[in-house]
Amino acid sequence: MIEQKLKNLIGYAIKESLLSIENIEYATNSLLYLFKLDQMPEMSSQEVEIYSLLEEILNYAVERGLIEQNIETYRDHFEAKMMDCFLPRPSELNMLFRERKKIGPKTATDFFYHLSKATNYIKVKRNAKNIEYVYNGKYAPLQITINLSKPEKDPKLIALLGKTTQKNYPKCALCMENVGFYGTLDKASRSNHRVVDLTINHQKNAWGLQYSPYAYFNEHCIILKKEHTPMSVDSSTFEELVDFINQFPHYMIGSNAGLPIVGGSILNHYHFQGGRHHFPIEQAKVLRSWKKKGVEVEVIDWPMSTIVVTSDHENKLLDMVNDIFDAWKKYNNPAIQLFSHTIEDHNTVTPILRLEGSKYKMILVLRNNFAPESRPYGLYHPREQYFNIKKENIGLIEVMGLAVLPGRLKTELDLIRSCLEQHMPLSTYSELLKHQEWVSTFENDLPETENLDSYLKEQVGKVFEKVLEDCAVFSIDQREAFFSFVESAIY
Ligand SMILES: [Zn+2]
Repeated sequence: MIEQKLKNLIGYAIKESLLSIENIEYATNSLLYLFKLDQMPEMSSQEVEIYSLLEEILNYAVERGLIEQNIETYRDHFEAKMMDCFLPRPSELNMLFRERKKIGPKTATDFFYHLSKATNYIKVKRNAKNIEYVYNGKYAPLQITINLSKPEKDPKLIALLGKTTQKNYPKCALCMENVGFYGTLDKASRSNHRVVDLTINHQKNAWGLQYSPYAYFNEHCIILKKEHTPMSVDSSTFEELVDFINQFPHYMIGSNAGLPIVGGSILNHYHFQGGRHHFPIEQAKVLRSWKKKGVEVEVIDWPMSTIVVTSDHENKLLDMVNDIFDAWKKYNNPAIQLFSHTIEDHNTVTPILRLEGSKYKMILVLRNNFAPESRPYGLYHPREQYFNIKKENIGLIEVMGLAVLPGRLKTELDLIRSCLEQHMPLSTYSELLKHQEWVSTFENDLPETENLDSYLKEQVGKVFEKVLEDCAVFSIDQREAFFSFVESAIY
């Protein structure tokens, strides 16, 4: 009976502190309206597993025509609207977050993170489908994720999309207009989406904090400017990162570069990403270090050209970071074909910040997006021979040593394994043609059948490491030039 299921859902919402006792009647009536029911019979709730409960309720909604078509997108929209019946309005949530922040920043983020998971805004169950493993690379153990959490596009959805005109509202996936947005065929369900206000660099409540629904690491959050302005990295970016870390010292934070090719997938809305997770880049060994102006500067042994600046004093740290950044913006080295600008500027950085005890640690990964005719995808982009594994931009998360690889790889690796086991040519399957060259580099060196799966995963990890090396502005044999650049920048 649907009423019992809804009652169980209300019981769940109370237990998970989504719903307070004084809002029970209000939430119940919102649900009755959504499900076109007259009243809720007297009954007590039973404890049930939330994901199966949601499935059962959504199946009911499909049967009754409350969800117009049984496609995942429409089910998601309806589910988010249902969970919104329990959630505080944005202003109330902000008040609750602020109260907890007075107790401590971790209390505040624990509260908001729990809420975002409990409403199934963060897709915990879908994220658990991802394949995650560690590749013991030569720089550090790299974290590899094959991304299976985002649903494949249903052919029914593709057909429907073909018949609709796309609208420019909300302007982008990060805009504040998403808060409470029901969702469309091509825009995600956001009825249960909440963003809490942040003040960064004295810009009162001009920023927001939200969690990522398809999280790639623990407490993966997004810190965004409320105004829809494009990404860019400059001296104010570094100050903003420091100010965030002062307020939330238990998180790390980083920014994608603001230029195409070397930036992330969203360049049109200014944002950072953070969370409670340690990344492989933080384990890299130090190659050379300098102490200058009360600050420690290190070049680390990482596939991409990386400088770490450490200091107890935020102003000294910022001065040094700005010195390095300004020097890098204008750095040219024709001997190694490195050009800071042609008709446009090419040099920028991917910055990452963490507070370790009393020390600020800013990681600057040098980037350049020059794309000569011979390398149309970018001179410091994965080479085409690795596109079978990774073709997309190497953004912040990958720079730090966490690979996010396309979901198609799962099926393709399974097929490759079965071809190798049965001595069939890869060309048996058209989707494996792109892997032929790669597989030929190791197919004479295969382990026992039972180890083939982990062997293939290891080969994928090896490619990810090479892809990161491709993005180095100073390759390993140009490290002397890299050291000279750092020396000239910090003196
Ligand atoms: Zn936007």
